Amino acid sequence: MKYIGAHVSAAGGVQNAPAIAAKIGATAFALFTKNQRQWTAKPLTAENIEGFKSECSKYGYNSGQILPHDSYLINLGHPEKDALEKSRNAFYDEMQRCQQLGIDRLNFHPGSHLKKIPPDQCLRNIADSINYALEQTENVIAVIENTAGQGTNLGYSFEQLATIIHNVEDKSRVGVCVDTCHGFAAGYDFSSEEGYSMLWKQFEQTIGFEYLKGMHLNDAKKELGSRVDRHAPLGQGYIGEEAFVRLMNDSRLDGIPFILETPESERWADEITLLKDQL
Ligand SMILES: [Zn+2]
Ligand SMILES: [Zn+2]
Repeated sequence: MKYIGAHVSAAGGVQNAPAIAAKIGATAFALFTKNQRQWTAKPLTAENIEGFKSECSKYGYNSGQILPHDSYLINLGHPEKDALEKSRNAFYDEMQRCQQLGIDRLNFHPGSHLKKIPPDQCLRNIADSINYALEQTENVIAVIENTAGQGTNLGYSFEQLATIIHNVEDKSRVGVCVDTCHGFAAGYDFSSEEGYSMLWKQFEQTIGFEYLKGMHLNDAKKELGSRVDRHAPLGQGYIGEEAFVRLMNDSRLDGIPFILETPESERWADEITLLKDQL
C-alpha cells in the first residue's frame, strides 16, 4: 500500500491543507506548518489545531500519511554558533508545531558547511541539533532528506545520512526521506533497472529500510550526477516514467507517504492518477 500526494498549500492556515489534498485525489500530503521564508511565526491557534485534526479525519488522513517540510532558512549544521542556535530554535519550534497537530514526522534538509567547517563537523552539528529537538519534544520523528549536493549542502550520500543517524541518541525518532531528483543529481541512478536495484541495495546496507519514513517523487531536469537540484514533472526529465512505475511496485517502500514536489501543480491530480494506476 502506497500513500500518494503532493506538497499542498496551507495558505490561510494549516487547517486548509487537507481539503486541498483531497481535491487532487491525494492519499498523502506535505505542507509547511508556518511561512517557510520567515524565521518566526505566530503560535498555532486552537482553531488551527482543532481545524486541522477534524479536516484530516474528515478526509481520512492519518498521521503516517502526512509529511510536513520545515523552513528553507534552517541550517542545522551551521558553522557559526549564533546562527546555529537560531536554526536549532526554529527547528524545535517546527517539531513542536507537528506535535501539536498530531503529526508524527517532520522532513528537513540536513544542512550546509558553507566552507567554514569540515564536512564531518557539520554532520556532527546536524546530529546534535536533532538531539536538541528530540529531547524537548515527543512522538515526532526527525526525517532527514537526501540532498542533491548543490553548493555546500551535505546529506547527498547514504553514508552521510548514516553518519548523522549514528550520532542521534534516540534512533526510534530519526528517519530519512529519499527524494528521487536529489538522489539522481547526487549520482544514484534511479532511471535504469540496474541502477535502481543497486541504489536500494546500498541504501539497505548503509541505512536500512526501517529508517525510510517518506519519499519525494520528482523527475530531474539535469543529468545523473549533476549536483543540481531542479525538479521536473514525472516522465518529463532524465529519470523517466518507468522509474516511477518501479517505485510504485516496490513492496519495500510500502506504508510511507510518497510526495510530489514537481513543478506545475495543475498536473498533480494527473500525476497522482498515473501513479495509482501502477498499483
Ligand atoms: Zn524533496
Ligand atoms: Zn529539491
